[in-house]
Amino acid sequence: MKIKSADFVMSNSDVAMCPNEPLPEYAFIGRSNVGKSSLINMLTDRKSLAKTSGRPGKTQLINHFKINGNWFLVDLPGYGYARVSKKNKKTFQKYITDYFVKRKQLVSAFVLVDIRHEPQKIDMEFMEHLGENEIPFSIIFTKADKLKPKVIEKNVDSYIKKLLSGVWGEAPNYFVTSSSKKIGRDKLLDYIYTINLDFFSES
Ligand code: GDP
Repeated sequence: MKIKSADFVMSNSDVAMCPNEPLPEYAFIGRSNVGKSSLINMLTDRKSLAKTSGRPGKTQLINHFKINGNWFLVDLPGYGYARVSKKNKKTFQKYITDYFVKRKQLVSAFVLVDIRHEPQKIDMEFMEHLGENEIPFSIIFTKADKLKPKVIEKNVDSYIKKLLSGVWGEAPNYFVTSSSKKIGRDKLLDYIYTINLDFFSES
């Protein structure tokens, strides 16, 4: 899929206030500093569509971007950052869980994890939450440029094994990406394109 346009539409913290156009929507979420803003900018080929975080935990809103006039990319707040006040930190903020449970246009979520790290409890819990609510999701491994191909393979394998040893009977779809080296861009955009085709042929 070619990106012809990528426009900021709105930010808010209430799912009821999100755009009400019946367009397919993809939500990007992960721990603060995982590389989410960089990935969104890489995917959309824009330098600063999503604000890269000088101060992690700063973006506390649901941000809607309209892509090619026919789908929404949603940038959700990073979770699990200690500097966010205790009250805000309480597992996942309600407006985020509300977003996932109530947003009818949401067709798929992307949970971003840093490819260098062992599976983190908060990410696992978040994926379980998505599973319990029957929300399709894929994992996006970020910062692949930081590791050698062999290590990438090993880390991905052990991540998926860990998921399979838990509540998951089936491995989720995943993508290996690097924003700085533009790795994974075409695969991810083609994946979204294919889901969009299904969405529009059914509607
Ligand atoms: P966010 O908090 O999840 O939005 O993360 P950012 O996109 O702001 O990135 C956090 C930090 O990781 C920044 O210092 C980025 O430069 C760095 N970063 C993000 N993506 C990559 C990547 O693909 N490769 C490398 N080497 N660094 C990255």
